[in-house]
Amino acid sequence: MLEMRPSCERCDKDLPADGNGAMICSFECTFCAECVRDVLSGICPNCGGGFEPRPARPTALLPRHPASTKRVFNPTGSDHTPETFSVSRG
Ligand SMILES: [Zn+2]
Ligand SMILES: [Zn+2]
Repeated sequence: MLEMRPSCERCDKDLPADGNGAMICSFECTFCAECVRDVLSGICPNCGGGFEPRPARPTALLPRHPASTKRVFNPTGSDHTPETFSVSRG
């Protein structure tokens, strides 16, 4: 199940789980569509992979399947790698 992180890693903009506009890479690095398009040129700064639009979670399911509340704010992309992601997951 996707973490559905609540914010953009680069600009800390809110990205509601039941809304559009969030982009994720295969490690679920999460950015807003504007950062991906205008700043990152579609390449994840943490792992070098590409992005896909994050599917919205239906609002009705959020009480039973809540989105992550852990904000990740890492505008430089410098302090984590795919290896640390695999350790920190779940
Ligand atoms: Zn952003
Ligand atoms: Zn990534």
